[in-house]
Amino acid sequence: MNYDVVIIGGSYAGLSAALPLARARKNIMIVDAGLRRNRFAAHSHNFLTQDGRAPSAIITDAKQQLEKYPTITWVDASVIDVQAVNNQYEVFTEDENNKYSTIQTEKIIIATGIKDELPKIEGLSERWGKSVFHCPYCDGYELNLGRLGMLYSGAHSLHMALMLPDWGNTTLFLNDAVSIDTLEPAILQQLNQRNVKLDTRKIAKIENHCDLKFENGEQSQLDGIFVSTFMKISCSWVAKLGLEIDANEYSEAIKTNTMKQTNLHGVYACGDITRSGGSVAFSVADGAMAGVAVHKSYVFGE
Ligand code: FAD
Ligand code: MG
Repeated sequence: MNYDVVIIGGSYAGLSAALPLARARKNIMIVDAGLRRNRFAAHSHNFLTQDGRAPSAIITDAKQQLEKYPTITWVDASVIDVQAVNNQYEVFTEDENNKYSTIQTEKIIIATGIKDELPKIEGLSERWGKSVFHCPYCDGYELNLGRLGMLYSGAHSLHMALMLPDWGNTTLFLNDAVSIDTLEPAILQQLNQRNVKLDTRKIAKIENHCDLKFENGEQSQLDGIFVSTFMKISCSWVAKLGLEIDANEYSEAIKTNTMKQTNLHGVYACGDITRSGGSVAFSVADGAMAGVAVHKSYVFGE
């Protein structure tokens, strides 16, 4: 079957994009692999009306509200390739039973999110979303002004370390990745002004709730540690299609204009895959914009 729009990714951004399109009675297919970025967290914060709810509960409500629109088709599968064919796109999917399908569509909305590449320290990935965090607005408040760590993994960690004291007593763990004398004097001064302590010891592993064990045998007990992840586009077809990417030392993102239109005709993108450091609220807003933009493109052209 031919769809007006295929939305790739059925989480906050993708579902939000579907809503205005469904209300304009467009034929939409949503293809979703079911691996939301925040699936490791028990609670989601900082999204108005949903503060503190389970991330999955927000999705369940959204899906229930979308169910009443008959022009939406939902597919649990992974998009493994997208190809431009004449003035259309072919979207290739694979489901969990290794069943392959091809869908033709004029327009695509990419809402696949990103993959967090975590620093490689024993015990860190198991604590992701529990006592190891990336976003103080999401998880800082619940740490009750306690003992916070910032793990150094590049310039972005210095920026984060300067923010964290509003959520607790902060130590920047350099983890032997950089020496203090190579840091800019201006940054050291700012860290000092913000009462951020510096710790140079090399971390061997994280144990219990958030106990850092150092290579020299010492340890430090924390209430939570923040890390800068590398936010990576995990779908190889994104680059292959010829989409323009913005990349820096800590993230990759598809370039869009304010209407969430990419450099390719008929291809829109929204949510975390279009910004370095996203949130549920930003993804919902991006999705709403992409949905409206795609609908308008049918009426007014691109
Ligand atoms: P995602 O939610 O990541 O969803 C992308 C969807 O696309 C997934 O279902 C995925 O399986 C699917 N997909 C990917 N590739 C394909 C493919 N090839 N084919 C089909 N489907 C595909 N934000 C907040 O605002 N508040 C919080 O409290 C908060 N806590 C967080 C806690 C943790 C541990 C993490 C890691 C993040 C947290 N975030 C929080 C950030 C939030 O999770 C993201 O900003 C948000 O999920 C982005 O929404 P999205 O729709 O762009 O992408
Ligand atoms: Mg959270």
